[in-house]
Amino acid sequence: MLTDTDSNMDKDRMRLVRVEEVRDESPTVRTLIFKDDDAYRARAGQFLMVWIPGVDEIPMSVMLDPYDRAGYAALTVRRHGRSSTALYNMHEGSMIGVRGPYGRAFSASNGDVVLVGGGTGLVPLLRLCKMLSISTDARITFIMGSRSRDEVIFEDLARRLVCSNGKVIVCTDDGSYGLKGYASDILKTVLDDYTSRGEKVGMVYTCGPEAMMLKVLKMADEYGLDAQASLERIMKCGIGLCSSCCMGRYVLCKDGPVMDARDILACKEFGVYARDKSGRLVRYE
Ligand SMILES: Cc1cc2nc3c(=O)[nH]c(=O)nc-3n(C[C@H](O)[C@H](O)[C@H](O)COP(=O)(O)OP(=O)(O)OC[C@H]3O[C@@H](n4cnc5c(N)ncnc54)[C@H](O)[C@@H]3O)c2cc1C
Repeated sequence: MLTDTDSNMDKDRMRLVRVEEVRDESPTVRTLIFKDDDAYRARAGQFLMVWIPGVDEIPMSVMLDPYDRAGYAALTVRRHGRSSTALYNMHEGSMIGVRGPYGRAFSASNGDVVLVGGGTGLVPLLRLCKMLSISTDARITFIMGSRSRDEVIFEDLARRLVCSNGKVIVCTDDGSYGLKGYASDILKTVLDDYTSRGEKVGMVYTCGPEAMMLKVLKMADEYGLDAQASLERIMKCGIGLCSSCCMGRYVLCKDGPVMDARDILACKEFGVYARDKSGRLVRYE
C-alpha cells in the first residue's frame, strides 16, 4: 500500500517527460505540452522544478493542457535569460525533467471574484479559473493585462474557462488591443462599479509583475477586500531547504508561492527588494 511518505517521495523524484507539442503563444512565449499525472493533478498556483538537461533547474507554474486531456500538463515559458531561453528552444521529442508539484495553492472563494494577471502570471490564474468554474459558483471577472497587442496571450482559453456569467477584460499598456491602461487601473474601474451597485467582491486573485501585484494588493486593502497573490523569487531547491526564496520570515517555495495579502503587505520588502542569486537583497529598479 502507498503511504503519504511514499507519494511525497515520488513527487520529489525527478521524472523524465517527453515534450509532445510546442505551441507559439506570442513572439517571446511558448507552451510545451507533456504527459505527467502528478503535474496534471497540480492545484492552481503550484509549481514544478523543471530540469533542462545540461543547463539548469528552474521553477515554472503548471499550465493547463490546451486540449484538456486527463494526465496531461504544460509549461508556458517566456524567453528571458539563459535557462528560460533553453527551455523555450526545446522542441517536439525533447526530454526534460520535472519534480513537484510544490508550494501553497490558491484557495477557492464563492461569490464574485476578480482575477488580475499579466504575462506568464496568467498561467496559475487560468488553472484557478478552471478550478473555480468547476467546483464553485464564483462569478469571475478576469482582467488580462499585457504591454501591447503582440503580447496578448490566452484570451480565447480564458473566455472558454470563464462561464457565461463571468467576463474577460483584456487591456494593453499602449492601447493597441482591448482597453488602454494597466491591469491595476482596470481593477479600480471594476471595483468602483461594484461599489456603485452596493455589491462586494469576495476575493481578488493576482499574479504577474511584482509592481502590478503591489498595486493590486494595496487597492484590495483600500476597498476592504480579501486578496491572494502568487509570488516569485529565485527558487533553487523548491522544498524549503536552501532559503534562496526568502521574503521576510517566509520561505516562498513552501509558505508560498501563493500568500494572503495581509501577510505579503506586512513584508516591507515586497515590491521594493528581491534577492539575487547569492541571496543578497537588491532594490527593484
Ligand atoms: C513559482 C514560480 C513560477 C514561475 N512560473 C513561470 C512560468 O510559468 N513561466 C515563466 O516563463 N517563468 C516562470 N517563472 C520565472 C522563471 O523561473 C524565471 O524567469 C527563470 O528561472 C529565469 O531564468 P533565466 O536563466 O532565463 O534568467 P536569468 O537571466 O538567470 O535571470 C533573470 C531573472 O529571472 C529570475 N530567476 C533566475 N533564476 C531563477 C530561479 N531559479 N527561480 C526564480 N526566478 C529566477 C531572477 O529574477 C533573475 O533576475 C516562475 C518563477 C517562480 C518562482
